[in-house]
Amino acid sequence: MDKAIGKNKNTSQAAESIFFCKPVTKHSVEVDHFIPWSFIKDDQIWNFVLACPECNNKKRDKLAQVDFLAKISERNEIMIERDQSNKDSARRIKMIYTWAQKNGYNEIWTPKKMSV
Ligand SMILES: [Zn+2]
Repeated sequence: MDKAIGKNKNTSQAAESIFFCKPVTKHSVEVDHFIPWSFIKDDQIWNFVLACPECNNKKRDKLAQVDFLAKISERNEIMIERDQSNKDSARRIKMIYTWAQKNGYNEIWTPKKMSV
């Protein structure tokens, strides 16, 4: 999922500080959908993460391992404090993750280098 960075200021702010394997730089960063886009078919701010191109490319339509679900939930809880309109996002992403698994997203992706 290649998305232009910075097109939406809120999106890049929300996605910042999350990464799968290493800190990303301005020149090598992509916005990834945490829950595969093929499953939720919607661009939701709480579902965006910044990832290096390699992770973005390898993860594709898989779910990331559950440690990262905890990490994105924490990120989203911080986002909630900033923006009340996202107040259900932390709970929602856990629900959707489980829901995706029940719907056949059984392959769990893990980056080569872990950084949870
Ligand atoms: Zn990576």
